[in-house]
Amino acid sequence: MKYLQQFSQFISILLLFACNLHAQDTDYYQLKSEYLSLKNSDPRISKEKEWVNLAKRLERFYFEHGSNKDSVEALYNAVIAYEEIYKATSDKTMLNTAITLLTRLYRDHPHHELADDALIRLGNAYLYGYGSKTLAERAYSKVIDEYPDSDMYPVALAKLKQHGERKERQTEVKAKLKYGNLHQVPVVVIDPGHGGEDTGARGKYGLLEKDVVLDIALKIKKMAEKQNNFSVKLTRTSDVFVPLVERANIANDFEASIFLSLHVNSLTKGKTTGIETYYLDNTKDKASQRLAAIENQAGLFLQKTPDLNFILSDLIQRAKLPDSILLAKTIHTTLVKGMAQKWGGQKDLGIKKAPFYLLVGAHMPCILLELYFINNPKDEERLSQENFRMDIAKEIVKGIEKYFLKVTYEKH
Ligand SMILES: [Zn+2]
Repeated sequence: MKYLQQFSQFISILLLFACNLHAQDTDYYQLKSEYLSLKNSDPRISKEKEWVNLAKRLERFYFEHGSNKDSVEALYNAVIAYEEIYKATSDKTMLNTAITLLTRLYRDHPHHELADDALIRLGNAYLYGYGSKTLAERAYSKVIDEYPDSDMYPVALAKLKQHGERKERQTEVKAKLKYGNLHQVPVVVIDPGHGGEDTGARGKYGLLEKDVVLDIALKIKKMAEKQNNFSVKLTRTSDVFVPLVERANIANDFEASIFLSLHVNSLTKGKTTGIETYYLDNTKDKASQRLAAIENQAGLFLQKTPDLNFILSDLIQRAKLPDSILLAKTIHTTLVKGMAQKWGGQKDLGIKKAPFYLLVGAHMPCILLELYFINNPKDEERLSQENFRMDIAKEIVKGIEKYFLKVTYEKH
């Protein structure tokens, strides 16, 4: 009997749990009033769990109800809730979720009345959460360029005057004067993978993928600026979280000619070394898919949305695949040969195709480089050396130059 009682208790707890798990909010006004009353009764976020739960319900309401006016407002309120939780707890994952959702809002609902507000919030999140002036300026500038009649226009203008990176703008003006048109020099977007809370892979002695790739990207930018054959834009210039979808947006906004994402490989079992280069494709190769699953983690929930298929077909229509393969081959062979000359025998892991989420949204030839293995102590030691990183950067710059020569030669 006692067992039966316990068993029925167990079942009722299980049912309660299951019901909670599948509870679906169908009425936005009900949900909104719950949210507002929590906001009024607990402005200091002492009931953190309740706040997180409500933020998640608001977020889920959006993803379950498509893009009507209410659901976009629910998304916006989810953002505010995540921001409030971040302010009270300093939990960066809350801020990162807010950043991802804001990026989603302005990209997918540019005509919604909250799109300009979302951009201001996005700028503030980058500025005050990460101290990233570049990404903040990008968000504020979008209000200036795309919403000139908005009530947020003066706010954006004031923010830019106060925090804008004048230096960047002046060099762009100079480049315009020199070349007549900025886009006569091809723009290369370099994407240092990961950033912020998303550290990427970690070596045995503590070296982090996010730091290695940022340093190499900054070196590439510096070299390219001296040589002036192409201009380099980075998706991040500091240790900041940037949603995957925003990385492709940045490349599209700059009308980049090519897009290179930098990563460091890692194996959970066994040791190997070498460079792998990927271009986007829907492959069935299991090893590639496993790697793609790891790299895609930072944008996991975005993948589940149907627009992935849409963007993919868009990309295929643009027929960038041959250019992506040419780019992959040119950079890969230059890099492997160059590093072999300077550092001895190199294991060539080859050029592969994989369905990286990151590369799907970009409308230009794009590749992803996996530079050595951080879980291999010898690779980790080399990757922490200034000279080694410098040589990787040099060979990538050479590879990019060779690619542009080939493209010009083939097209004229
Ligand atoms: Zn990575």
